[in-house]
Amino acid sequence: MNHFSFQYTAYPSTVFFGKNSFEEVFKLLSTYQKALVIAANRQVNYVKALQDKLGADRIYNFNEVVQHVPVDLIKKARQKQLEEQTDVLIAIGGGSAIGLAKALALESRHTIIAVPTTYAGSEMTNIWGITTPEGKTTGRDMVVLPKYVIYDPAMTAGMPVKLAATSAMNAMAHLMEAVYGHDTNPISYNNSLDGISKLKQGMQMIAAQHTLSLEANQLLQYGSFLAGKGLCEVSMSLHHKLAHVLGGTFNLDHASVHTVLQAYVLEYQWNALTADVQNDFKKSLDNPYPPAALLQLAKNMQAPTSLQEIGFKEGDIDKTIDIVLSKPYANPRPLVKENLISMLQAAYQGKLLQA
Ligand code: NAD
Repeated sequence: MNHFSFQYTAYPSTVFFGKNSFEEVFKLLSTYQKALVIAANRQVNYVKALQDKLGADRIYNFNEVVQHVPVDLIKKARQKQLEEQTDVLIAIGGGSAIGLAKALALESRHTIIAVPTTYAGSEMTNIWGITTPEGKTTGRDMVVLPKYVIYDPAMTAGMPVKLAATSAMNAMAHLMEAVYGHDTNPISYNNSLDGISKLKQGMQMIAAQHTLSLEANQLLQYGSFLAGKGLCEVSMSLHHKLAHVLGGTFNLDHASVHTVLQAYVLEYQWNALTADVQNDFKKSLDNPYPPAALLQLAKNMQAPTSLQEIGFKEGDIDKTIDIVLSKPYANPRPLVKENLISMLQAAYQGKLLQA
């Protein structure tokens, strides 16, 4: 990593960490008239707390949340924004709830306050995604970057262990790619290594305790914050593109796809990474062969480790690679069809090539 010649863009958001930090929302809303709160019924207590504190007439709850932000849902929520004359957006939920807030901000230009309940990291990015009948479109716009982000451990504490494990692996994937992305920089690089080590510690706790302790949760939340930052600051490579092709084309669960791909994509990249990057990954994951460390981490948490397990069909490997190769992008190792097929076959079977 060259510390003396680089480009870095800082993205402006204010983050609040810690127990009871949800209460910051009460203060943040003082300059707005009425909030559209995107929150599924699971979060009803937080919606009620807002209504009790600020008055029911200042909080409108939109409680429909669908993965990948379908355009019909956006239209419905936009209609409510206009009818209820709201002037700020609050998203309490995972990447899907935050994604809907982003889609609404694209049109309304309203400020977003994000209260993440998973480790997906969307709250720290200026990236939006919308699904139409023709497929998913993504883009970047500063208006969708949440202005305020609340990392209250209570929001993620109730996650089932399986979701915590796959969601943390989703964050891990962003951090790995932020380290070796072609346009990385020393700030994102070092933050991402820190995030990898925090996530590793949190995941090891999950594996040992079979539950999500407060300490593990806080480590994972911190790691996911850095992962979101990395995703925003650095261009993603093969892992990210492949995860989106698999999730989008075959309707596989987003976090599970990230979890499975992790070890196999790092193995694909391994010999193309610089010795410095290899060594930093070895140190952060405390293992001489990081792809094996990632696979073991997932296994220890009883998270999925093969594409077969999560419903992908072996016969779709060829089609997947063709889609991946249809749009060229930067990647540490050249993208060669036969090598990519071998990697996906390994991922399908759940066994590293160098195992
Ligand atoms: P999600 O928001 O769809 O949540 C996954 C499931 O977990 C849902 O059923 C949800 O109801 C449930 N859930 C959420 N929080 C919970 C909690 N605390 N306890 C129990 N259940 C809970 O999934 P996600 O993985 O958070 O986000 C995935 C989506 O976000 C994808 O569409 C992805 O493309 C998008 N994403 C976007 C960005 C970005 O920068 N734009 C970044 C990451 C992810």
